[in-house]
Amino acid sequence: MRTLIYWFRNDLRLADNPAFTQACLNADHLLPVYVHDSKEQETVYGFERQGPHRQAFLRESLDDLRSQLRAQGSDLLEFSGKSAQVLLRLLKDTSAQAIYCEQIEAPEEIEQVRILQQQGADVKEYWQSSMLDPQSLPFELEKMPDVFTAFRQEVEKAQLKFAQPINVPKKIPSLPAALPPGSTLPSRTQAVSHPYLLGGASHARAHLKQYLERRLPDSYKETRNQLIGMDYSSKFSAWLALGCITARDIAAQLNEYENCHGANDGTYWLWFELLWRDYFRFIHFKYGQKLYRASGLTGVPVKPSYAPSFEQWRTGNTGTELVDAGMRELHQSGYLSNRMRQIVASYWIYDMKGDWRAGAAWFESQLIDYDVYSNQGNWLYIAGRGTDPRGGRPFNVAKQTQDHDPKEIYRKLWLSS
Ligand code: FAD
Repeated sequence: MRTLIYWFRNDLRLADNPAFTQACLNADHLLPVYVHDSKEQETVYGFERQGPHRQAFLRESLDDLRSQLRAQGSDLLEFSGKSAQVLLRLLKDTSAQAIYCEQIEAPEEIEQVRILQQQGADVKEYWQSSMLDPQSLPFELEKMPDVFTAFRQEVEKAQLKFAQPINVPKKIPSLPAALPPGSTLPSRTQAVSHPYLLGGASHARAHLKQYLERRLPDSYKETRNQLIGMDYSSKFSAWLALGCITARDIAAQLNEYENCHGANDGTYWLWFELLWRDYFRFIHFKYGQKLYRASGLTGVPVKPSYAPSFEQWRTGNTGTELVDAGMRELHQSGYLSNRMRQIVASYWIYDMKGDWRAGAAWFESQLIDYDVYSNQGNWLYIAGRGTDPRGGRPFNVAKQTQDHDPKEIYRKLWLSS
């Protein structure tokens, strides 16, 4: 009898989950687990790494996943601690032969797997979080073009759009007869993850369905830089970050939408943004740990942030109204439009001369859609320490205010609350 452990990481879904499907095919008994890793605790900056909005979105997503597993006669066991230690103990307690999981190409997650393997665990990892299959790219990832436009052009020349998503596995193997001790169900956090968004694969699917039914892709290109409301951008990001839905699934449904209603600038631009998401993932295969140095890909040292100014920035008390409104929106809702993310990040780096790593850490704590690749990639990009051919993106706040909030509606909304 072959017992396997399935370790859910940022892939909290059953549909289009090749790693999970493979585990189902290869196991007689399967133990689905999630580990709340202790790395999520406090940062060097003194705040928690996973703030209340993100905790709540994760909680909702795990509950949704558990319901789906239970509906198929399985379950989800949750544990807390250091991932590698917890999993090694589980291997022993259940006499499982291997751990199946998705591959995450970021330093801390690579280290978790390295420790497991070093201790003799058989870990089967599957790369599955991108829209495109890396194997289908017309270049090796180690040699991928540094500049996004060159990357996109090569992808388009090869006529790559998305890898075909796969269905929910037909059958989920039963749980092992004796379940391991120590499984915990953390109490439900009171916070709601977001005023409008609920975590979990079912909510992700429902959201995508209404987004397409309401023909919102058609206007996406014109509205995507707005600051207020649900519909100016897709709001797919939080579900994508935890893997409640895949970019392949979204792209495939967008493709069907184009077949039905016709392609336009809006549908293309949504795909284009999902390609940015892939780009920041693939860049990790090329540069790895170098993306996590203070100097990023440049040799230029960073001056550590000056603490009082960091407090002003992160609490929305810089005195620059647009920036303060953005930082308050982020803290209160766990979300910020792409435009405002660019503005507040640029302000911290260029106007306040802050350390980009502190800014990235605050985003990690606050964003419900925190994604290691996209957060690191975008912060490096704006700081001019990544692959931006222009060497950084300073934004002029006065101009941005004039362009995006001329009637002071956004500032009033968040500064008065
Ligand atoms: P839409 O505009 O509807 O775009 C559709 C999808 O495309 C998004 O859900 C996202 O998956 C992808 N996408 C769009 N823009 C980008 C981009 N610049 N980089 C990578 N993917 C993109 N996004 C995250 O998902 N997690 C993060 O932690 C994150 N941190 C960021 C930090 C900074 C400093 C900046 C400037 C951007 C960051 N982004 C991050 C990218 C982007 O702001 C969000 O993906 C987007 O605002 C989410 O809203 P949406 O789903 O409505 O996006």
